[in-house]
Amino acid sequence: MRILVIEDEKKIASFIQRGLKEEHYAVDIAGNGEDGLFLAETNPYNLIVLDIMLPGKDGIYICRELRKKHVNTPILMLTARDAIEDKVSGLDSGADDYMTKPFAFEEFLARVRSLLRRGSEARQNVLKVGDLELNQLTHKVRRDGHDIILSSKEYAFLLFMMLHAGEVVTRTMISEQVWNEDFDSFTNVIDVYVKHLRDKVDKGFDTPLIHTVRGSGYMLSEERP
Ligand code: CA
Repeated sequence: MRILVIEDEKKIASFIQRGLKEEHYAVDIAGNGEDGLFLAETNPYNLIVLDIMLPGKDGIYICRELRKKHVNTPILMLTARDAIEDKVSGLDSGADDYMTKPFAFEEFLARVRSLLRRGSEARQNVLKVGDLELNQLTHKVRRDGHDIILSSKEYAFLLFMMLHAGEVVTRTMISEQVWNEDFDSFTNVIDVYVKHLRDKVDKGFDTPLIHTVRGSGYMLSEERP
């Protein structure tokens, strides 16, 4: 799950970023409207958190532009103002939900989860690959009825692989989407985590689910790629 946060107030942006990362979301920050619009148009996000008061292009304008261009990513608008007309113009411009700053982070997270659910109706809460199950609401992972205990990073990595089950996930995809980093030295870290996941998910089972696709990356699948 990748979220774009368009917010010019650095403190608020980094507060949101930290909190969302703790919940295993990958987060990009844009500090002004121009950058935000560009990122939103060129990357597939699952959710956009959009401040209204931005230097340059404001949130209402960005929202309208995105909807005009058929970018249908759910948008959660933020503003320091709580005037009724702001809420109305925010929602009229195509936003899905609205929050007034300051807000309680718990409530923010609840809205984020709800928008992510709405944004991908076809998505199921419980992902399954063979006898491996991952519940996105409880973060519980089980294989053949046995609980698998994962660290938060291992969970995020496995979730990403399960969302792309049957597809090759490249190292670039993994480092960008799971680690939020884009440098090459990250491949060692990925190797280490793949080993951890194999130990936890595949060890002791006849059918391995995590496969190496030589020269490309990895694939989570019941069948050998
Ligand atoms: Ca602002």
